[in-house]
Amino acid sequence: MYRAPRGTSDILPQDQPFWRYVEARAADTCRLYGYRRLDPPVFEDAGLFRRGVGEGTDIVEKEMYVFLDRGGNSLALRPEGTASVCRAYLEHGMHHQPRPVKLYYIGPAFRYERPQAGRYRQHHQFGVEALGDADPALDAEVIDMARQFFVSLGLGDTSIILNSIGCRQCRPAYLEALRAYYAPRAREVCADCQVRLRKNPLRLLDCKTPGCQPVAEAAPKSADHLCPDCAAHFTALKQYLEGLQIPYEEDHRLVRGLDYYTRTVFEVQSGEAGRQSALGGGGRYDDLIAELGGPPTPGIGFATGLERIVAGLKKQAVPVPAEPAPQLFIAHIGAEAAVAALKLGATLRRAGTAVIVATGGRSLKAQLRQANNLGIDHVAIIGEDEVRAGTVTLRRMAASEQETVPVGRLLELLRAPL
Ligand code: AMP
Repeated sequence: MYRAPRGTSDILPQDQPFWRYVEARAADTCRLYGYRRLDPPVFEDAGLFRRGVGEGTDIVEKEMYVFLDRGGNSLALRPEGTASVCRAYLEHGMHHQPRPVKLYYIGPAFRYERPQAGRYRQHHQFGVEALGDADPALDAEVIDMARQFFVSLGLGDTSIILNSIGCRQCRPAYLEALRAYYAPRAREVCADCQVRLRKNPLRLLDCKTPGCQPVAEAAPKSADHLCPDCAAHFTALKQYLEGLQIPYEEDHRLVRGLDYYTRTVFEVQSGEAGRQSALGGGGRYDDLIAELGGPPTPGIGFATGLERIVAGLKKQAVPVPAEPAPQLFIAHIGAEAAVAALKLGATLRRAGTAVIVATGGRSLKAQLRQANNLGIDHVAIIGEDEVRAGTVTLRRMAASEQETVPVGRLLELLRAPL
């Protein structure tokens, strides 16, 4: 027997109402903030992510699904959405459109991670990107949007964590300060941190190993090493957030796992757990589009993980709209009635009524049981007499009542609240 690959799962019919609910809230939030949907392909040229997300990041170096297709092209299943959206933005000349261009996506992302709670090899993201505007007011609006999305879902108790990691001008000096601080402490930190010290010092700050915590806590802060422009941007953002009355917590250890971020980085966390369980995160990426070969174009966005959101909705018992059961079940006995039942079902569906027609030649009792199991209260029963008379016996299961109804009346009856 085959099973779904490790780290992937089937989204079963009984879970679909949660997913539809999240997607509906996402689409509605985007409508309110003026974002339009873009669906990029799930695989891209592997170089796009190497270049965009960064060669030295875990996502690209250790977790990316890369394969050669039959034409010898090196492709990758997308590990995230931002690089694809920026590629599409350039490919379709959207840089000629009025700025900022606001786009969103919903779809799967793939990372070869060690599967555990809240961490999968295929997960789904809802993300937004606003391209072409460096105004810190846009950062504030994007953070407000992320927060409102969670509010609209009914997921209480989320918090915003904020940091600024500077830009090309100021970050090199900050990284030097970080290296200078860690170098004499290299023996105190884990083996991974020793590698990070050489390859990606920013990631030293978000190490989860308990022994590294005191060292990371006392490390130099990027926010203290910003150039005047980045500092002004960060100050303005915080003023806008205060104006919007959005509570946030500054965390000098928030750096995020993708190379493209500049200045603003933020995360939305659920109240109950630590950094592992971020519901979403994002930030500014003012160099990414130029890095991908486009004109210098600032950008900012966020992405949220739908599996974690669905898990949160279930845990907090947030009510989501149920899928309505079909309105009518058609049971039938005999060969002629089978034809009449199929015909009646087809007619009713064309008129917009959701109908299940019994199949499988089961006894009337078994057919009624099936209607019950499907949660359908109204059953039209057709036998030889009904075929001849052009009627059905309409049975209301809950009330155990039934009446004979001409087929022509059935439509009207179904339209009215029965
Ligand atoms: P990232 O692109 O890493 O910022 O991820 C954005 C959001 O997607 C995170 O905040 C998580 O909610 C979710 N996410 C990231 N990786 C995974 C994963 N492997 N499994 C489930 N959700 C994930």
